Amino acid sequence: GEIRIGLGSCCVASGSKEIQEEVEHVVNESGLRVNLKHVGCVGMCHQVPLVEVVPNEGEPVLYAKVKPEDVKGIVENHFNAPGLLTRLKNKLIHTVENIQTDRNWEGVQRYEISMREKPVASFLGNQLPIATEYRGMINPLDINEYKKRGGFSALQKVFDTLSPDDVVDQIKKSGIRGRGGGGFPSGIKWEAVKKQKSEIKYLICNGDEGDPGAFMDRMLLESYPYRIIEGMVIAAYATGIHHGYFYIRAEYPLAVTRIREALKICKENNLLGENILGTSFSLDLQIYEGAGAFVCGEETALIASIEGSRGFPRIRPPFPAERGLFGKPTLVNNTETFAQISYILREGWEKFAEIGTARSTGTKVFALAGKVARGGLIEVPMGITIREVIEEIGGGIANGKKFKAVQIGGPSGGCIPAEYADTPINFESLQEMGAMMGSGGLVVLDETDCMVDIARYFLSFTQEESCGKCTFCRVGTRRMLDILENITKGKGKQGDIEELEKLAEWTKKGSLCGLGRTAPNPVLSTLKYFRDEYEAHISGVC
Ligand code: SF4
Repeated sequence: GEIRIGLGSCCVASGSKEIQEEVEHVVNESGLRVNLKHVGCVGMCHQVPLVEVVPNEGEPVLYAKVKPEDVKGIVENHFNAPGLLTRLKNKLIHTVENIQTDRNWEGVQRYEISMREKPVASFLGNQLPIATEYRGMINPLDINEYKKRGGFSALQKVFDTLSPDDVVDQIKKSGIRGRGGGGFPSGIKWEAVKKQKSEIKYLICNGDEGDPGAFMDRMLLESYPYRIIEGMVIAAYATGIHHGYFYIRAEYPLAVTRIREALKICKENNLLGENILGTSFSLDLQIYEGAGAFVCGEETALIASIEGSRGFPRIRPPFPAERGLFGKPTLVNNTETFAQISYILREGWEKFAEIGTARSTGTKVFALAGKVARGGLIEVPMGITIREVIEEIGGGIANGKKFKAVQIGGPSGGCIPAEYADTPINFESLQEMGAMMGSGGLVVLDETDCMVDIARYFLSFTQEESCGKCTFCRVGTRRMLDILENITKGKGKQGDIEELEKLAEWTKKGSLCGLGRTAPNPVLSTLKYFRDEYEAHISGVC
């Protein structure tokens, strides 16, 4: 049998280390022979700490919100051991209230048992794990287990059967677009880097995630280090790159530790370094820890940061594909993009392209947060509607409140009101609605939320994170924030809305990088759909 304990950052923050120690204690004390496995993030942040028991016979069972005092009962529920039976026979878990069938992975029927709350049944139901394949099942650093489940077979297939041109061609045909926010077609970016004649080129995995409420990159880096590395080696092979960087925020210590360890293990297994898997191809990867400036997620600022300069964005062109890190052609992709590459090459671009919509293929990872009943890390096919995400995966609004809006795309995104909940989640539809995919923050708001205050909150974030290079971004956001603060304090006046609209337009037009160009979005989208709330504040109604 096997006992799996989730040890992602969210799980650890909720006490899974204590659960791990208790499980080890109970197993050692009882003399049971079971395999204790540390697994990565399952995504069910609303139910952590999680313990999954895979008995020798019968179905695996996933226990949610486990407390140290539950552990003995859970173990006894599944395993026979003389020590356990003697001392614990009266402590079987009788508190289990609900057993719900969950989705079927690998033909294994999984269950979730909620011991204290309502069932968590379909959280995983509508999801489609590609970047998060085998979530909660494998030890993030066990390379043999990753290989057993198809890991590095895409790389082997690439080396055995595909030329760099073939790989670029398949990435283009898959239709995958950058998952970091911009949605630029990855295959075209790869082709642009491949065409460059320079002997030295660089590869960068952008793990500089800074949006409030977003933790997709952190979870992927912590739980799927080999999947990301495999994607990076394939990208490097396709574009003729031999040096690369992971750019990870220093505030993600577990992600940094796991990637560091994974790089070491890959080198020992001939998956990095010289003559990878016996070929003539070589690649070295190293980690660069970012100091936490949000603007360093913008690729030219990120490059400046690795070069040792202040993280200032610069004018493009030249694009990093032509002149990037240390003046050399550079391929920058987001963590999630790299995490999807091995699937495309292993399963075939056709299979990936069948998922999602015509112009937004594949899946997208979101951090589902806010007033939703079941929050966490989800991966869904593109084209799924906002309503399906909130109602079916998120279990609706918490505490019986009414759904009001969803803020998609973090501080660069916008608010979409409840009446447009049937909008499909893809790059184009979201943009048409005044929001954007962004890197994947999805904050659900209920009837008690003030939309002016939401806009103020996101703008205060971008205002603080503006690098100050452009006047419109530096001063325009400050001025807009002053107005919003006045309005929320009941000091708004006639003409404020028009002033906000004017400043928003100027800031969008007059800013150099994405941060400034998208900073007004939360204000503009709330003005578009919730103008009455602004007016009510100004006229003193609320
Ligand atoms: Fe800096 Fe803002 Fe200009 Fe971007 S738009 S370069 S963050 S001042």
